[in-house]
Amino acid sequence: MRPMADGSDHREDPRARIARLEAELSRLLQGRDLAADGDERSDGHHHPAEAATDAEYREKLLRDRLQLTQQLERLRAAQSAIEQGTYGVCVDCGEPISPGRLRAVPDAVRCVPCQSTAARRR
Ligand SMILES: [Zn+2]
Repeated sequence: MRPMADGSDHREDPRARIARLEAELSRLLQGRDLAADGDERSDGHHHPAEAATDAEYREKLLRDRLQLTQQLERLRAAQSAIEQGTYGVCVDCGEPISPGRLRAVPDAVRCVPCQSTAARRR
């Protein structure tokens, strides 16, 4: 393990972090964790204003769930890149992604310059 000179709190190896996050998200997306949160939030009283809030809340839960699913897909892609030995290499230019970026975004597939180019293309 090389010492980190930037004072970052993310000292965990990005590969280890990906495995941990993947396990956490899989667990979260299994079963009905998010839906159960919505049920617990209800105090049993029902009036029209609350019903609207509930609908919005459930919509938010669905959006969160979609984001978690997409995040999980990125983590799994990063895991297969680790297995194939292509982890930490930019998919666009083939240059190594900086360790600082991988600590901040462990599932990053592009280096910073290519990511800004890709973001502009969208
Ligand atoms: Zn690049």
